[in-house]
Amino acid sequence: MATSASSGGEYRDIPDRRRFPSYSGDSISQGLVRLSGVVLRRDVSAEGNVSLYLFLKETGPVWVSAPGATRGRVRFGGAIEPLVWANFNLYKGTHRFYLQSAEVKEDFWSLRSDSGKIKRMLEWDRLLCEHLVPGLPCDEVLALFYWAGVLLKEDVHPFVAEWRFLWKWLYNWGIAPSPDLCGECGAALSSARLAASGFLCPVCARSHEGTALSADELSLLRRSLEIPVKKMIEYFPSKPFPGDAPWEDVSRRLRLYFSMMQ
Ligand SMILES: [Zn+2]
Repeated sequence: MATSASSGGEYRDIPDRRRFPSYSGDSISQGLVRLSGVVLRRDVSAEGNVSLYLFLKETGPVWVSAPGATRGRVRFGGAIEPLVWANFNLYKGTHRFYLQSAEVKEDFWSLRSDSGKIKRMLEWDRLLCEHLVPGLPCDEVLALFYWAGVLLKEDVHPFVAEWRFLWKWLYNWGIAPSPDLCGECGAALSSARLAASGFLCPVCARSHEGTALSADELSLLRRSLEIPVKKMIEYFPSKPFPGDAPWEDVSRRLRLYFSMMQ
């Protein structure tokens, strides 16, 4: 098959610069607003007041008060659990948002009994809480997070789903390491190691940082970024799955790229 190292793919179509539009918690005018998104965190104060950290379309992550949520009122249904996707009807006050009601769209219920998968989604949730800027819209990352959950639900291997999610998120921010070209000399890569300065060719990877990735392993990493979500389960089912180690290593290293942003 004549795949060139520099051939395009789906992952090239994502905008390659982190965008900084206005902080849009403030751009939404006071009053009722309906926004879709996901619950990242739920905090309950000593007085029983519930605050939700919602990651919302067109708004980014914002804190939302859910008054009365712990006093047996049922109007929020299951919509105030972490990792639940919903349409949230909010009231924007002068200083903050209040939850009025919500319609659950996807609760990933089938994943909640699988401790490995739910742990992984909560780990992604934690990364989003840690690295997204409150009030800064980032709809592409929101969509990537949703599709990463869908991949787990469809039983794509969790390490593959994770690599794909983290890499595309970093790519959206313009800081993903190219799996095609050496991060130091720019040579087309056949085999590589993932280091802090990118995927490195065998000549540049002198410190032996990162697991050695064979040509086959590298092309699987690339393929997982290129193929559409609906094809992922065909190519990367969780069973049978040969060799977790390279995927685990690249995902662990991608997390370090987020730390470098701080
Ligand atoms: Zn090189």
